[in-house]
Amino acid sequence: MRVSIRDTGPGLNSEQLAQLFQAFNRLGQEAGNEEGTGIGLVVAKRLVELMGGVIGVESTVGVGSVFWFELATAVEPSLATAEGDAAALIKLPVSRGARLHTMLYVEDNPANLKLIEQIIARHEDIRLLTAVNGKSGIEIAREFLPDVILMDINLPGMDGFEAMRILHSDPATANIPVIAISANAMPRDIKRGLDAGFFRYITKPIKVTEFLESMNVALEYAQTQVKGISTLTK
Ligand code: MN
Repeated sequence: MRVSIRDTGPGLNSEQLAQLFQAFNRLGQEAGNEEGTGIGLVVAKRLVELMGGVIGVESTVGVGSVFWFELATAVEPSLATAEGDAAALIKLPVSRGARLHTMLYVEDNPANLKLIEQIIARHEDIRLLTAVNGKSGIEIAREFLPDVILMDINLPGMDGFEAMRILHSDPATANIPVIAISANAMPRDIKRGLDAGFFRYITKPIKVTEFLESMNVALEYAQTQVKGISTLTK
């Protein structure tokens, strides 16, 4: 795919064109009113080339310039993988029909949010709530009392550990299983998470099968919690 940007500026002569992608070289514009450091095109060239593309320019003095870059097209990513097939096979411990479970996902990374949304969309009995930081995650948890919480560790502001501790210290949310999700995948990271009180600890990149298995166990656990409470009230 080629993207071209045409302007009607003064254009560039061959001498200027030869120096165009040099860092901090502003081709005589240093004295002008337009602010800049002369690295924008250098960064753009580096980014395009790192993605296997090419960047270039055609220019005519007095007419204007056309800057362009080309990138290879690719198919849109989807869940249609071996893992996606596994996702379809793993049934969660719920009957079809009404939405019986609520899951809260606290995550600041839009790509991960999107992936979990896609997976949950296949399970019509699960309602997904999302929050992009720990503070709003705690507020939503208190209001909706989800059956399970999936908690990113690295969040802006309070991290997942702190948010989990606050949830566990509040009697209203103390029994909700909180699954940690993190790119910190060393055994000591996982141990630290489980020791701190996370129900499970799953690592990024998200593996659909591992995620669904953890959800399964957490939802089963949540059901025993509910039974425990109803037995007590009887
Ligand atoms: Mn994060």
